[in-house]
Amino acid sequence: MPYSLNSLLSDTGFITPYYLKKFQKLGINTIEDLILYFPRRYNDFTNLMPIANLSAGQVATIQGKILKIKSISIFRRHINITEAIIEDDSGSIKAIWFNQPYLAKLLEEGTAVSLSGKIERYKKGIQISNPMYEKMDALGDLTHTGRLVPVYSETAGLTSRYIRNLIKKFLPIGKETRDILPLFIIKKYNFLSYFEAVSEIHFPENKESLERARHRLAFEELFIIQLASIRQKRAWQKQKANSIIFDKELIRKFVKSLPFKLTNGQRMAAWEILKDLEKNYPMNRLLLGDVGSGKTAVAFIAALETAAKGFQTAFMAPTEILASQHFISAIKTFKAENLTIGLFTGSVAKIYSENAGISREITKSAMLEKIANGQVEILIGTHALIQKEVNFKRLGLVIIDEQHRFGTRQRGQFLFNVKKHSQVEEDGFIKFDKMPALMPHIMSMSATPIPRTLALAFYGTMDISRIDEMPLGRKKITTKIVSPENRIKAYDFIRRQIQKGHQAFIVCPRVEGSDMSETRAATKEFKRLAEKEFKGLALGLLHGRLKSDIKERAIRDFADGKIKIIVSTSVVEVGVDVPRATVMMIEGAEHFGLAELHQFRGRVGRGTAESYCFLFTDSASEETLERLAVMEKSSDGFKLAAEDLKHRGPGEFLGIGQIQSGFPMLKVASLFDEKLLKNAHEEAKKILDSDFELKSYLLISQKLAEYKGKAVEK
Ligand code: ADP
Ligand code: MG
Repeated sequence: MPYSLNSLLSDTGFITPYYLKKFQKLGINTIEDLILYFPRRYNDFTNLMPIANLSAGQVATIQGKILKIKSISIFRRHINITEAIIEDDSGSIKAIWFNQPYLAKLLEEGTAVSLSGKIERYKKGIQISNPMYEKMDALGDLTHTGRLVPVYSETAGLTSRYIRNLIKKFLPIGKETRDILPLFIIKKYNFLSYFEAVSEIHFPENKESLERARHRLAFEELFIIQLASIRQKRAWQKQKANSIIFDKELIRKFVKSLPFKLTNGQRMAAWEILKDLEKNYPMNRLLLGDVGSGKTAVAFIAALETAAKGFQTAFMAPTEILASQHFISAIKTFKAENLTIGLFTGSVAKIYSENAGISREITKSAMLEKIANGQVEILIGTHALIQKEVNFKRLGLVIIDEQHRFGTRQRGQFLFNVKKHSQVEEDGFIKFDKMPALMPHIMSMSATPIPRTLALAFYGTMDISRIDEMPLGRKKITTKIVSPENRIKAYDFIRRQIQKGHQAFIVCPRVEGSDMSETRAATKEFKRLAEKEFKGLALGLLHGRLKSDIKERAIRDFADGKIKIIVSTSVVEVGVDVPRATVMMIEGAEHFGLAELHQFRGRVGRGTAESYCFLFTDSASEETLERLAVMEKSSDGFKLAAEDLKHRGPGEFLGIGQIQSGFPMLKVASLFDEKLLKNAHEEAKKILDSDFELKSYLLISQKLAEYKGKAVEK
């Protein structure tokens, strides 16, 4: 054939403009793109049966001759039925298709066919209904029947049958692709060659060979990700940073001053971080801990040490609400430390210093000056911290809270602005060829419940600390799905909680003007509750579109107990900390993922009182109720995430935030294939140890460049 892998589908002459457009929609332009469009699943049509042995209920393949075929239109019912009799050496059976009248011509009497489908009972015996069909050629090579048949995602309106035919046609061109894996790796793991693997993934010989193909391709995906992250990590560590020496006495005294005893997990994490700060290359550490595990306290310890050595800390949170809450709690926590603390968001600049004793609002330019002259020691804020005009005098530490909420670009931007002439590219990747400049230490925090090995795949550029335990005395939060008829009881319950001095959150899925008529928009719900169910009680409203001072006041009033019930959108998902709140009531719970619901639930049960989470849903779908029921049983972020994965697939499992962050999406590799991931990690490490620049691995090097390109696009 005159084509190559790079040939455009449009140049092959096989595909009409109508279909070309559909392929374009899927991002498929070249023959290579097409070949790398992998099946979503397979139909197992390997069960080849003599017709005489068939029985109802089976999925089977039969092969024989068409004895008779005819097509009848039933106009009244707008359907067309094609009926055929198929015969093999053992007997004959009726086949029936709906609305495919052309089959009567295509499969005319006498044609040798192969049919795969379900055997069903009907009045006079059994028949095969709507089977997949194909003519048999002399070679007996099957595409649509009688084998493991690939099924492709049909999102753009392309049928699997059509895609299958095209891929079969062009697949041989794939022979020209070269294996990027070095021979010694292929040998060591007894891998299929790349081309064999791609062929098998489309048209597997059998289940074992399909598994081998998957294994081979999955390894390659993980291997590339590992190479990229190990290289990035090492390049990062080639840079210089200020060494901030761990003052044990200072930290001991501070920890003693806290109103609680640190958990072992917090202690360990703090220790690892303080040790990292001592190094003369920048830390890049991720602190993972479930909602409520007390990550903030660990971050504050690092910030204190940094300030004590005369360096500034930038503490970035994804929302203004969270930033201002951190500001308030920093002031409380550092009461005795004589620190100057700033709050800087898109709409407010505030400064607190020990001498003044209170926080006061200042102008933006005054704030910029205090940042530039080093007066602000701990600066807490939102994206505002990464604006161009923000110049720190001696930035020692960057803390990124709820890091999964930020894009790679934003995280990279931070560094970019830190050192205007640094070698950090905009996307956070680092060029290797320039001289290192002084970088701040970076500490990211997240509650993403991610298994250990998986973290290797997704956070491979970072070191990881984990807080694996919750502070003592936390009680399990009683979680209940509330059916519509029990709504009134739930309101009564909340009123009684408030009489006891507790508080409640009510979360609604969308703000006013939403297209989901059945879900109670927060604003409407707020009005309704204020006039009816909770008349006379102090109610607050919180959603993303409120002006920030109003938002901040609502949150503060709630934290201070002036507001008893806060009606909110999902903006309360992250961070907000109100120990007296004991009820989290979630409207339209089915609209959220389990991991999200778990985050909401983490807003209560922060004090010592018994706490409750009520999930409201009007949905009667069994699947939804089953999914929500998992919340009643489990309070383990990991389990819930795994459950989410079952129900919603990896894309949603990782959360929109993470997809935006340019996380690599895996086509083949299973998220939980730990052994393969470990192997990929080890091999990548070995290769980089011997040849960091990949000078003798040109193909790998090219692939890596492509991969990087893709990650940046996202
Ligand atoms: P997260 O890890 O979700 O960010 P926070 O840092 O907001 O959690 O902490 C949750 C709550 O737990 C806060 O009220 C905090 O003061 C409290 N807390 C933190 N550490 C401890 C501890 N060791 N013992 C008791 N309470 C703690
Ligand atoms: Mg937090």
